[in-house]
Amino acid sequence: MHRRQFIMTTAIGGGLALCPKIALVRADEMSSDNPALSKYHYPAQFYEKLGNGIVECRLCPRKCIVSDLERGYCGVRENIGGEYYTLVHSRVCSSNIDPIEKKPFFHFLPGTNAFSIATAGCNMNCKFCQNWTISQFRPEDVNHIAMTPDDCARVANDNNCPSIAYTYSEPTIFFEYMFDCAIAAKSRDIRSTVVTAGYIEKDPLLELIGLVDAIKIDLKAFTESYYKEICNSALQPVLDTLVTIKKSGTWLEIVYLMLPGLNDDESEISDLCDWLLDNLGPDVPIHFTRFHPSYLLQNLTMTPLVSLERAHSVAREKGLHYCYIGNVYGHDTENTYCHHCGKLLIGRRGFQITANKLDGGKCPSCQTTIPGVWD
Ligand code: SF4
Repeated sequence: MHRRQFIMTTAIGGGLALCPKIALVRADEMSSDNPALSKYHYPAQFYEKLGNGIVECRLCPRKCIVSDLERGYCGVRENIGGEYYTLVHSRVCSSNIDPIEKKPFFHFLPGTNAFSIATAGCNMNCKFCQNWTISQFRPEDVNHIAMTPDDCARVANDNNCPSIAYTYSEPTIFFEYMFDCAIAAKSRDIRSTVVTAGYIEKDPLLELIGLVDAIKIDLKAFTESYYKEICNSALQPVLDTLVTIKKSGTWLEIVYLMLPGLNDDESEISDLCDWLLDNLGPDVPIHFTRFHPSYLLQNLTMTPLVSLERAHSVAREKGLHYCYIGNVYGHDTENTYCHHCGKLLIGRRGFQITANKLDGGKCPSCQTTIPGVWD
């Protein structure tokens, strides 16, 4: 099997279904010789011209310096004659209709579906990536469908999805497409949610949070060394992103994927919780999720339940109000309990809602307002 066949097989077989209502363009119909490829060249935002045909990308903290006919680190932004282009506008490689709980958002329209889309590429390189068959490849190397922003909003509407989720790979690198989709969605009263690592510059982030309705940040760890060695990235810009989102009032949730022996130390979790309380307050939900071996870290075991439960206990003892354990089917900590009186508010089993007792966003027992977007 040659490389392109392999990519086509894994992109479809990796659990990321393509929406059945939209025609598929096979990857082997595309090549750099094919003039149809140019239909995806779309002017990029957030870059500076440095002279001599060189540009500096200002979309993410990597700030790639890109010469003519070259691309940035993420592989989806290209310099052509000193002008910068995104190659993934309207070029969707994965789409599906998912429960919003799968993102996971637990305090945003519970029990609804999100039309979920992704393009190829990523500005990080996490060694545990579960979606590496799309995140670590260039757009011409994976299957895709052509889907305009209006198509996207229409599919969401036709399938009774009150929100679109930009997810699976890294939506920062398809910023222009995400932005246009969010505008198209708004015109149909469909909301937008972003599932991101938060490695983005402040200017594009400010534009985004003025438009979308909820953001989930994958906080990979709480040490710079982990970000550098495991993700080829940096922690501080992500912490800055969290603070900016929280200040904006856009709904925010955090996922912390726990890798055994790498980011699950109790003192690291304790430091993280202190930082969250000091900088974001107690009401931002945090999901400690179980790791399953994947991509370049197949040598690790899955996260022991005791590590997840310990992290959950530390977070609750520190005073964080909404702490969850993820990827452990049927665990009590999938449920939402009132932080004031402890009453069960939303019952969950996996991605299914088993009960929703919220009354106008309040606890029916003690009338405490529960933070979130409930309707
Ligand atoms: S978005 Fe891509 S091209 Fe731009 S700085 Fe980040 S990695 Fe580089």
